[in-house]
Amino acid sequence: MNEEKINSKFLKISCSDCDNKQVVFNKPSKKVECLSCGSIICEPTGGLGEIKSKIEEVFR
Ligand SMILES: [Zn+2]
Repeated sequence: MNEEKINSKFLKISCSDCDNKQVVFNKPSKKVECLSCGSIICEPTGGLGEIKSKIEEVFR
């Protein structure tokens, strides 16, 4: 087993536009939009998603 892979986690992100808080996977396969205003809050990069807003909390 390859232990070097980055752990999959869920992150709580607050939208920078409307302050809506939302839980997202840290390795998304597609863009994640804010459920409230539609802003992109996380984009896929092939590995870890690029978080576009502020991370409030990390779930392990
Ligand atoms: Zn929003």
